Parts: sequence; structure tokens; C-alpha cells
Amino acid sequence: MPEQTIPHAFHVMAKPTGSACNLNCDYCFFLKKEKLYPVSNFRMSDEVHEAYIRQLFEAHQVPQVTVAWQGGEPTLMGIDFFRRSVELQKKYAKPGTQIENTFQTNGILLNDEWCQFFHENNFLVGLSMDGPKELHDYYRKDKGGHGTFDRVVRAARLLQKHKAEFNILCTVNSKNADYPLKVYRFFRDELGVNYIQFIPIVERINENGETGFQEGNRVTDRSVRPDQFGRFLINIFDEWVKRDVGQTFVLNFDGALAGWLNMAGTVCIFGSTCGQGTALEHNGDLYSCDHFVEPNYYLGNILKTPMIELVASDKQRKFGCDKRDMLPRYCRQCEVLHICNGECPKNRLIETPDGEAGLNYLCDGYKAFFKHADKPMRIMADLIRRGRLAEEVMKPTGTEKRVVEKGSTQPGRNDLCSCGSGLKFKKCHGK
Ligand code: SF4
Ligand code: SF4
Repeated sequence: MPEQTIPHAFHVMAKPTGSACNLNCDYCFFLKKEKLYPVSNFRMSDEVHEAYIRQLFEAHQVPQVTVAWQGGEPTLMGIDFFRRSVELQKKYAKPGTQIENTFQTNGILLNDEWCQFFHENNFLVGLSMDGPKELHDYYRKDKGGHGTFDRVVRAARLLQKHKAEFNILCTVNSKNADYPLKVYRFFRDELGVNYIQFIPIVERINENGETGFQEGNRVTDRSVRPDQFGRFLINIFDEWVKRDVGQTFVLNFDGALAGWLNMAGTVCIFGSTCGQGTALEHNGDLYSCDHFVEPNYYLGNILKTPMIELVASDKQRKFGCDKRDMLPRYCRQCEVLHICNGECPKNRLIETPDGEAGLNYLCDGYKAFFKHADKPMRIMADLIRRGRLAEEVMKPTGTEKRVVEKGSTQPGRNDLCSCGSGLKFKKCHGK
């Protein structure tokens, strides 16, 4: 394989219990994936585990490696599996490598021992939560049909008690999407978290009437509606941009800001191409993406083919480039294309107004949000470019206001010069 086609770094979301979970959330697409492995015990063997860690560290040519754990529910493996993982990571890491473990959980099984372990080993925990009790419990239920809110709040408190770093992953569905500020303020004020990610639920109905695969152009009633999602983002953005920038980190806003900065973002959905974020099943099967764990997107098994070859394969490269190459003309002519990039291919299930397939179901919502956020985003991008802090958007000066009004960053004659001299612009670079 030519050297230049091999990525120096990539992301693998490992699912040590496959799709097995101790909850039964109505909208969960992972649960339906159990059918892919009808006779499995859904436990990653030591052989697959060691192969995964060894290959991951061998393949990385950068000083930082992320080991990402996802489910199903990874706590079902038991804590000793992750103790062993930390040992394997130390064994295979090149000298000087900075290791980060991320761990997505529903929180139900967390106790003092788990939280202490996370703290001691610098795991970054993602806790799944959909808002205050009545909104969270609407879809996030256990196998007995009971709400899980109280148990998840308990988990959050335990994580806080042990100073384990964690953030909130909140799905936005047709129920909680009507309560953006209630949801946001709950996380910020009552739970006391300062890192939140909102994931829209777009659940496609497959030909057989079931859900689980990225096929079909209809969605379930649980799915958030495009206009609803747009309003959800706008309402939270308006509050965030007035008082929380630099304090509360909302991944959706940070990811979008990268578009205004013309930079590669932190979230794959707004990138022009993707394909660097694969998913590893419990038995070593590797798939193109966590959202595409289905037969058409199977890359191979890491016990038979080295993971780096699968990640660098033509099939995977095509998967990543298709994100850009399959955009309908409507998107290619869109004024916010440089920010949106057609969002995630998994949501491209509707037709454009002139009948071309492949438009993103959430298009209207995103368009509304990007247009609404344009002025403050331009100010923040401009501040960052000038080496200042994005939070200065909350107290805009004359210069920042002019960015909005005229699209210009040049200070007024009586403003301080942006070179940092402390002189008025007219006495310095504006002479
Ligand atoms: S398919 Fe979607 S979620 Fe997967 S890597 Fe591409 S943009 Fe990201
Ligand atoms: S806002 Fe809509 S039309 Fe524009 S790039 Fe995104 S999905 Fe395409």
C-alpha cells in the first residue's frame, strides 16, 4: 500500500459488548444490531482485545492515541476488562504516547469503584441523558419499562464525587426537542456540567417496517422534526452566546464554528469528507462507522487483516469521499455548504425541491440555525483569528460590531488598534 494513503491517526469506537445493553431505550439503534450476530455471547475475547490495542498503538504515528469505548453498554464487561485494557495500553504504547480513554455509558452500573477507576486512569466518561426527569424517562427506560432518570443522576453525582471527568450526551427526539431551554438549563444549572453534546434522533424505517439500518426514506415518530431541531439549536444558542461562551462547552456549536473559521472541525458530521472513525464489534469485525454497522459497510476482521489496512482500504476511502462526492446539486449551491457539508450521510434520506435524492432530512433545521447564528459566529471566528478569546463575543466592542455590520475587521478611527500597541487606530496602523 502506498505510504501516502496510510492515515497517521484514526478513530475506532470499540463495542466490547457489541450491542448488548441493560436498558431498552425506545429509539436505540444499537439494540437492533444484535440480529447481526445471532449466536454470539456479546463479549470481547482477550484475543480480540489484545489484537485491538496492539494494532491501534502500532498504527498510530502521532503522540496522542484515543481508545474509545462504546456500546451497547460497556460496563457490562465488568471493571476487570478495563483494568486489563489499561495494562495492554501501557504495554503497546510507544514511549511518550499520551493515552486518552473515552467511555460512553448509560450510568446504571456505575458505583464508587468504577468512578474511582475512571478518575485514576483519566477516562473521559460520556453519560447519556435526555434532560430533566419527565423528558429523560419518556424514552430512556429499563427492560421492565421503568424510567432511569434517578439512577443516572446518581451516577452523575458519583462521577462528581470522585472527580472523574464526564460530559453529557443528550439525544434530541420529538419529545424533548420542544423544551430546549429546560433541557439546557437542567444540565448547566441542576446537574452542573459544562460539556454537552446534542445528537438528533433520525430513525429510518426500513423496508420491512423495522428500524436499525440506514435505509428507507421515512422516519419514526420518535425522530426529531427538522424545524423542531433548528428551533432547539437556535434557542439554546441564543442563551449560550449571551452568557455561557467559554464556560459551557456545546460540541454542536464548537463543531459549527470551525466552518466559520475555515478549519477542519472537531465533529465528523460537518467535515467535507469522513471515514476516519470506524466501529469495532466485539468479535473483531470492523465497520465503516458506528452509524453504519451493517453488512454493506463491513471492512473485515482485525484477527485476519491488520486494522490499518482496513482503515486505509479503497472501500473505506470511498465511504469517506462519498460524503462529498454524493452531495446533491442543491447542497453544492447552498450558501452554508462550507459549514454544513450536507451533514452526516446517514441522514440524507429526502429529495431536494427539484427531485434529486440525497438531501439531508435535517436540512431545513440546519439552514435556519446556521443563518441565525451567522453574526455571532462571524464575530467569534474573527476574535479567534486575532488571537483573542471567543467569549469576548458576549461584550462586543466597536470592532466586533463592525464585523457584523460591514463584514470588516478594521477598527474605527477612535478604537484601540488591533496590533496591541494600546494606541488609537488613527494614531497607529490607521495613520
Ligand atoms: S457517516 Fe456520519 S457519523 Fe459516520 S463518520 Fe461520516 S459523518 Fe461521521
Ligand atoms: S443546509 Fe441543507 S442544502 Fe445546505 S449543505 Fe446543509 S443539507 Fe445541504
